This record gives sequence, C-alpha cells and structure tokens, in this order.
Amino acid sequence: MTLRPARIFTPFDVQRQGLVDVLRSRGIVDESVLASIHIVPREMFVPPAMTGRAYEDSALPIDNRQTISQPYTVAFMTQALRLTRGMKVLEIGTGSGYQAAVLAQIGANVVSIERHPLLSSKARSVLSSLGYTVNCRVGDGTIGFREGGPYDGIIVTAGAPDVPEPLAKQLVVGGRLVVPVGSLENQTLYRVIRTAEDAWKVEDLGPFKFVPLIGRSGWDESITP
Ligand code: SAM
Repeated sequence: MTLRPARIFTPFDVQRQGLVDVLRSRGIVDESVLASIHIVPREMFVPPAMTGRAYEDSALPIDNRQTISQPYTVAFMTQALRLTRGMKVLEIGTGSGYQAAVLAQIGANVVSIERHPLLSSKARSVLSSLGYTVNCRVGDGTIGFREGGPYDGIIVTAGAPDVPEPLAKQLVVGGRLVVPVGSLENQTLYRVIRTAEDAWKVEDLGPFKFVPLIGRSGWDESITP
C-alpha cells in the first residue's frame, strides 16, 4: 500500500471554490471556464496588500492606475469566446496577467499585449512562475499582432470608442472578437463573429464598464489625467 500525504487546502483554495459558486449563481455555465477559475490563484495577480480581497467578485487596482478585472467579467468574456484547447487567442490589455492565465489554463495558446511596460513585465514574471506559457508583448494592442494570427479568439479588456478594425481583420473565419464599445463612462460588450472573408456579425452581450483602450484604433492618449 502506498501512503500519499493528504492534500492541504489553504484558505485561498476554499475562497476560490466560493468564488466559483458565486459565478455559477450569476449564470456562468461553461464548465471549462469555471474549472480554470477554480485553479488559477488570483491572489498571485493582485497587489500584495490586497491578497485578502483576491476572491471578492470585484475589480481591484493594480499599477499604472489600471485594474485587474472583476472575476465575473473575466468569466463572462472568456465564456463568450467559446474556447477549446489549442485555440489561438489574442488578448489586448494584459494588466495583471490574470485573464491571460485563465485563458492559458483552458489550453489556449495566448498572445497578450499591454501598453504599460511595468505591467507587462510583472505579468510575464508571475505567469511564468506559475508555469503558464503566454507570449507577453508591449505595444499598442489596437493594431493587433498580425504575425501571430489569424486568431480563433480576440479579447479586449479595455473599453473602445468603436470596434478596432485591425482586430476584426485578424480573426479566422468563424473566429470571435469580444470587445467593450461605447463612451468613456459606459460600454456595451460586443461579440463580433467573422462569418466570411469579408463579413462580420455583431452581437450585443450587455452593459459593462472598463478602463479606456488607448491607441491608434482606441481613445487618444490625451484623455488620460
Ligand atoms: N486583463 C487584465 C487582467 O486580467 O488583469 C485587466 C486589464 S485592465 C482592465 C485594461 C488594461 O488594458 C490596462 O492594463 C491598460 O493599460 C491596457 N490597455 C489600454 N489600452 C491598451 C492598448 N492600446 N494596448 C494594450 N493595452 C492597453
């Protein structure tokens, strides 16, 4: 008989399970998304002083006056991408790296672009310490990354004034772009599906609120205080 040490559950494991229950009760049904959130340690992606709040269903501040998105938003957007293992996904707005980890945990091949070098380097180091392979790049994500495409899914985690055209064009036919579009105060989450080489269908997934997407196909940098 082989005796194995019992797995020790930490308070964070218990809180993570509680978060999954909350997301389920709020209507998240994709089991691969829930399983991923059950595994990814969100406490590693929030500032050290905030680990006690890591499993609240709320956005939290990170460096450069940005935020780690609310877990419900991460789950909802990921579910909207309809991912399966091995799909190629581009994320715009790496931020803390948490959303990229959730995508990678599902088995997606992830490229993630962030405009702030500090955020990108912190995200790269926490992702690699956890064993996630994510291609973290610094730059203006509104122009996408054509060399890495075309993509099965593109997720934009900041609010745009319009659907960034370069991103819609970097989808495979059948691919999905999930992007919040609207004013600086409020946005509507769109799912843009490329239905043919030169045709796209837009679906309205409801109201959300994000920090602004700044760049050539986003808001002008002058809007930041
Ligand atoms: N996905 C992130 C996470 O899991 O922590 C949350 C991202 S935060 C809500 C939005 C991010 O988009 C910010 O880090 C911001 O700097 C970034 N961003 C804004 N405009 C961008 C652009 N044109 N290209 C790349 N990143 C951009």
